[in-house]
Formats: sequence, structure tokens, C-alpha cells
Amino acid sequence: MKVAVFGTKSYDKEFFKLEGVNTTHELVFFESRLRVKTASLAKGFDAVCVFVNDVVDAECIQMLASYGIKVIALRCAGFNNVDLIEAEKQGIAVLRVPAYSPYAVAEHTLALILTLNRKTHKAYNRVREGNFSLDRLTGFDINGKTVGVIGTGKIGQIFANIMKGMGCKVIGFDLYPNKKLEEDGLLEYMSLNDLLEQSDIISLHCPLTPQTHHIINDHSIWRMKKGAMLINTSRGRLIDTESAIRALSKGHLGYLGIDVYEQEEKLFFRDLSETLIRDEKMLNLMSFPNVLVTGHQAFFTDTALTQIAKVTLGNLTSYEKGEELINRVGTEAIKA
Ligand code: NAD
Repeated sequence: MKVAVFGTKSYDKEFFKLEGVNTTHELVFFESRLRVKTASLAKGFDAVCVFVNDVVDAECIQMLASYGIKVIALRCAGFNNVDLIEAEKQGIAVLRVPAYSPYAVAEHTLALILTLNRKTHKAYNRVREGNFSLDRLTGFDINGKTVGVIGTGKIGQIFANIMKGMGCKVIGFDLYPNKKLEEDGLLEYMSLNDLLEQSDIISLHCPLTPQTHHIINDHSIWRMKKGAMLINTSRGRLIDTESAIRALSKGHLGYLGIDVYEQEEKLFFRDLSETLIRDEKMLNLMSFPNVLVTGHQAFFTDTALTQIAKVTLGNLTSYEKGEELINRVGTEAIKA
């Protein structure tokens, strides 16, 4: 298939070229993200390949359909940026990579927790400048703490296991609790409110849906223990950033670690070091010493990039050969 790959970076090209050697697909890489303004680049292609911040809304899909695009191949798991109803209406198949390396994301979640707690980022800079003082580097023992996991799917389970291994009590909230996890003694399910009230560390691992949009808001954040740590490696819009800033300012929220951000489309995946950043909320967040932001890098391991390229290309091959599309996302996903 002739595939227009949108929003590509050097590492995408590297891993897709490596894995593409064994396929017959012709890949053309565009740096621009896919959205209405750039959709015309897809003229003459059979498929488009997109990532988390491309905006594949109804208007964009109608344009793609008019160019004869048959497949939208997501090189990620989340599909909240694609209008699935419009894609179905236009007869365009939406395929995704349901799991590339859930370990990568769970391990990065731990990295955020440990960095925020033990302040290794600050220690690194201090020591390089010859400052070996320990002032303000105090952390806390993670062993014995209660960790709340919101969304106990693939990533949430691995993360729960890691924290269990560190001697934590793990509690969970999920719309569809997995009883096996409780039977195995990994975690105890409870209501969202109870989880918020009992946790020392809360980590978000549920998808972004209308139900989970701003699941952390003024109401829920104040239910959390004073001084608790909140971590989000899932999707930015799960947290109302303004609520988080208010709770940080008042000293209620003890730590915030985010790999995803509500308005990340305007910032992430590019070098803006020579640019004036005008995103007030991000600038505000950066001013807190107890906030750590990474730029959507939780997935970013060689294992995950290999798997993303392999599965994406495999999805396209299955479509071309008329095979069963096991990684198809249909409108039932939103209804569910
Ligand atoms: P998954 O589908 O295996 O698990 C998601 C879990 O969330 C499921 O158990 C589901 O029942 C639960 N859930 C759904 N709606 C809920 C709700 N309203 N309240 C509570 N729980 C709810 O997904 P996964 O592979 O574990 O990935 C989780 C999320 O991680 C993805 O949706 C994606 O947004 C994010 N992610 C981020 C990165 C990154 O680089 N930062 C990479 C991959 C995935």
C-alpha cells in the first residue's frame, strides 16, 4: 500500500524503515501532523499513518475519503483523536497498535515517582556544580505507602506489580474491575472517592473518554490526602490543569508528575528551546519545584518503537490481504 506517514520524526523513519524492509508497502514520510490544513498531502495514497496528536476529526476524514484513503493506521494505542463514527460512515478502517510496550509506560511512571520523591534531577545538577549539600533533597520511603491505580488494564496492572514489589499497598479503581487481580492479591478495588481519600500516590492509567475527561478536577483533587503525589502518564485531558495548579498553590497537592498535558499538541514532540513559550498553564506548572513534566516520552523505548513499526505495518498488510483485522477500532469502542 502507498502510505502517507504524518507527524514523523527521525526515530519513526529509522524504525519504520528497518521493519519495512520485509514488506511491500511504500512509505512517504511527512513532518507535518495530519489535520484539515495538511490533509491534501494524502492525495494519491491508499492509507495514512498517524500518531497521538494528529487531529483526525470529521472534516479531515471527509477529505481523506474524497482522496480514496481506505485506512487510518494509528501508530499508538489511544484513538481519542480520531472521529470513529465519521470513519465508519466513510468506510475507512481505523487500525491501531493496542499494546507496544506497556512495560515502557509503567516503568516511566516509576521514574517520575522516584525523581519527584528523591529529587535526583536536582542532585544531578547540584553535584555537577560542586554542590554536595543535601538541603531540600529530603524524600520519603515508598515502602509501606498506599498507591491508587485508576485504570487497571495492561499498563495499570504492570505498574501495580512494580509498586507491590516496592512494598506498597495497591488499591484500584476501574469501570470494569478485573476480579482476578484481587484474587491474586495484587490490589483491592474500591470506589474512586475511597481511592482518592486513601492514596499517598495516585497514578492515572485509564483512557481518555467523555467519562474520564477531567476525572481529576477541583472536586476530586480536594478529596486527595494533603501532600499526595499525582502522576499522569495516560492522557493530558484526564487532569483539569487549572485545578492542579490551584491545589499545588495551596500546598494541598504535594507533587505532580506528568508525561502528558492538556494542551500538549501545541508544545510536545518539537524543540522550542529558542522560542518564547506562551502557554500560561505550562509556564505556571514549571514554576513549582514539586512538578515534573516530561514530553510524552513514557512509550519511548527501542522495544516499543520496534513493536509500533512491526504492528502498524502488519495491520496494513492484513488489510491489503483481506485478512481478519484484529487491531481494528470500530464505533463499538466508544459505545463501550
Ligand atoms: P487498557 O485498555 O489495557 O486499560 C485501560 C483500563 O482503563 C481498562 O481496564 C478500562 O476498563 C479502564 N477504564 C476505562 N474507562 C474507565 C473509567 N471511566 N474509569 C476507570 N477506568 C476506566 O489500556 P493500557 O494499554 O493500559 O493504556 C492505558 C492508557 O495509557 C491509554 O489509554 C493511553 O491513553 C495511555 N498511554 C500513554 C502512553 C505514553 O507514552 N504516555 C503510551 C501508551 C498508552
